Amino acid sequence: MSDTEYTEGICEDGAAILRDGQPMTVEEILDALRDREQLQAEVERLTDTNKRFGEIIHNQVVANQAAWIQWQRGQGAEAAMVWIHNGLAGPGLIPDESEPWSDDPQAYYDANQADPLPVCPCGRPSNQLWMGYGACCHEHMKEIQQKEQANE
Ligand SMILES: [Zn+2]
Repeated sequence: MSDTEYTEGICEDGAAILRDGQPMTVEEILDALRDREQLQAEVERLTDTNKRFGEIIHNQVVANQAAWIQWQRGQGAEAAMVWIHNGLAGPGLIPDESEPWSDDPQAYYDANQADPLPVCPCGRPSNQLWMGYGACCHEHMKEIQQKEQANE
């Protein structure tokens, strides 16, 4: 945040600042300058946050690449999983056994991704979307489509 403080002063030359052709009052000008300062600080904060998110995503991709290298060119899949485990265990993100779908990788992903699809009529999380309907598998998607076509 800036240390700048705007205050009122007297201008002898009669100059004025116009907004959309209308003269602004001194108070309106001061409000606009204060708003600008706040917006600049907010842009700075959001830019910094965006940079940090970018770094987090970058580091997760590099950790996955390191895991892939270990799997394909190093000591195999078991050793590669150490990279994945460390990336989750450090920040405390190992899924608890009591969490829903914690024994079903696809359903766990479908339920916990950032923007989950509508739940399948059977109750499982979905990984397919059609006309606003979610489905957990091709079979259930086919049932949804047949039901919709019968209603047309
Ligand atoms: Zn289903």
